[in-house]
Amino acid sequence: MDSIRRGTINSNFIDITGDLNELDGLFTDYWKRVLPIGQSSSIALPFFHLKNEPFWELILVPELQGKDKFLPQSISSIKKLREIALGARIDNELFLFIQSNESREKLVNQLLFSCFSETAQNALKEIYVIHEQAFQYSIFLEDKANGKDISELPVIDTYKETARNQGFRRIVVKSYNHRCALCGVRIITPEGRSAVDAAHIIPWSETQNDDIGNGMALCKLCHWAFDEGLMSVSNSFTVMLSNQLGNHQNAAGLLGTLAGRGIVAPSEKEFWPNPSNLKWHRSKWNFSAVV
Ligand SMILES: [Zn+2]
Repeated sequence: MDSIRRGTINSNFIDITGDLNELDGLFTDYWKRVLPIGQSSSIALPFFHLKNEPFWELILVPELQGKDKFLPQSISSIKKLREIALGARIDNELFLFIQSNESREKLVNQLLFSCFSETAQNALKEIYVIHEQAFQYSIFLEDKANGKDISELPVIDTYKETARNQGFRRIVVKSYNHRCALCGVRIITPEGRSAVDAAHIIPWSETQNDDIGNGMALCKLCHWAFDEGLMSVSNSFTVMLSNQLGNHQNAAGLLGTLAGRGIVAPSEKEFWPNPSNLKWHRSKWNFSAVV
């Protein structure tokens, strides 16, 4: 429902051979809200078990087509799911029905009402609203970076913090295509989880600036090193390292080899880091040899 509302699922076939990062992230948010802490799951489970519902047809890989009896009883991961299926097809009538905002909202409410306790209904409804706000916010940031007229879009003050964080992450990670701007690492698990965070160049707490130009996708290590002032980016978009990194007690590994290398920036120039934000970071952490 979230992805149909966003338009990221736009046909009645849901493909699982490509990037499932967003879909699994949406599912996980709901799961975490109603299941005990530590009980992890994957979108692979409902994706597989919905095959028992009349509106959900699992489309098997060619080798298994017509051989349903060879299917496993259960599926625990997207990797396993991909071994048996290409995706799923939703009943076309249902798909058309939930294209309309009004009927989709009715169905969402009915599902919540008939399957969950009142407490769970409220928790899940909140996630549903946050997901929509996060998506709208990411579109707002993208339009802003592209210089589009954004006067009609809601101002950022109206977004809850969670929606704001999710929206910023969505557009920054997408702009960098899941690649770390500083070291170039790009790792996505079979479940679609990515090694990068959406990092603020000037922290949100300082200027409340979620512009894509105040963000970079950074892997966990580079994010930490950037926030600690051990790495920065020059005016000509090359990686700068602090002398501290080479301190005799440190073994910087890969990070130690990055000095002077160009950052891995988005393909669209409008989404590159804003030089004045980078300057703020260099000056905060006393990177003196500014090029
Ligand atoms: Zn990195």
